[in-house]
Amino acid sequence: MKKLTVLLAALLCLALLGCSKEPQHQHTFGTWRVTTASTCKKEGIERRICTECQFEESRPIEKAPHTYLKDSNICKSCKYVNFDDAASVVEMGNTAPYEAGNVANYVWDVKIFDGKLYRGAGDYDKNSGDTPFITFDFETGRWSSVDIATDEAIHRFVEIDGKLYTPGIDSRDSGGWALGNYYALENGKWQKMRNVPNGIHCFDMIGFGGKMYLGVGTETVENTVAVSSDAGKTWSYLPLHNHDGGKFDTSPYEWSRTYAFAEFKDTFYALLQFKKTGATAYDMLVFRYDDGKMVYAAENTINARVSRNYWQSAFEWKDKCFITANGLYAVTDFAKPDTHKKIELPKGEMVSDAILYNNEMYVLSCLFNEDSTIKTVIYKSATGEEGSFTEVASFDYGARPYSFDFDGSYFYVGTGGVLSLEHSGKAGMLLRVKPNA
Ligand SMILES: [Zn+2]
Ligand SMILES: [Zn+2]
Repeated sequence: MKKLTVLLAALLCLALLGCSKEPQHQHTFGTWRVTTASTCKKEGIERRICTECQFEESRPIEKAPHTYLKDSNICKSCKYVNFDDAASVVEMGNTAPYEAGNVANYVWDVKIFDGKLYRGAGDYDKNSGDTPFITFDFETGRWSSVDIATDEAIHRFVEIDGKLYTPGIDSRDSGGWALGNYYALENGKWQKMRNVPNGIHCFDMIGFGGKMYLGVGTETVENTVAVSSDAGKTWSYLPLHNHDGGKFDTSPYEWSRTYAFAEFKDTFYALLQFKKTGATAYDMLVFRYDDGKMVYAAENTINARVSRNYWQSAFEWKDKCFITANGLYAVTDFAKPDTHKKIELPKGEMVSDAILYNNEMYVLSCLFNEDSTIKTVIYKSATGEEGSFTEVASFDYGARPYSFDFDGSYFYVGTGGVLSLEHSGKAGMLLRVKPNA
């Protein structure tokens, strides 16, 4: 059959192209030689040449097998993840580029968006350098990190009007502190917007009423909540006010930072930290957006941090604003801190993150075992009321869960460190977790 094909090809060649110099003979091929070696990502090419007439034939070489490191199911050359469908927990790898034990490996946030999974990384305290957008593609089954943020860390992924953004938490660009960055995902590619005045630190973003808002940390006190009316092309700062309409007194402070936003009851709230002048003390205050101003609402009582994020998640649901910050809190009125209710999980677990999926709340939590592993427990609830949480997954692991997302079939849990376990090498791992049947 093969000979016939070659003969037909030669005849066709004569008939169509008139390459009359090719004699009508049976080719005498040399051995196949590799022109392009195959890899685990791409087929290779090999060819052979007729020793009489130099007629050339080529054929593909099938892809090479993946090469897995010991005890790993991630191919070291192409970052393909070999999922074991029988396993309830699959390690998808610590794909951050930092040395083991570095805080910069921690998965500050996990976000599934448009067929891909994005994970946070980096350290803006110790300054770990430019931060890659570490991406898992569900279609190819591979990790990649093509785009790079010129910021020391990526801490949050924020969806605004169907688009994905991340605030630039500590710009490394030349020009000092005059401008800050945020990043927008445009057709699968992260684009840097370097246009936030004095925005050296951008911590959170929110879309509200057709405008975009950025939580900024600067060396000044006043400039801390930035607004853009032109889809993020230009930014200006909102004034800070008191309840009574007067200007908020910033004189005791030397700088401020807006760490987090929460939309609730047809407005949004911002968590501001003010540094007291000449002291190491901070005031943590909540401000309410009101018609172009940020108006003081109350002292913040929900300020424990699970990772580097204050308010790891915050969303409105069932007439409450649910906030995670080591615990799970339900707020009914930001101006009345005594109504901020901590919701206890069944075994008093610490809470890392919470998400809504199909109008149910999923909570990522953990307990510390005596053997210094950590029991991660994922709960779900249809109401958010204490006592309504049922376990949907649990497993022991050598790192603390930090952040997660859910695609309806699996949870994707990112881990970080905790005291003695910080150097376990497991902190910074992405895990695929199967819900209980
Ligand atoms: Zn030949
Ligand atoms: Zn491979």
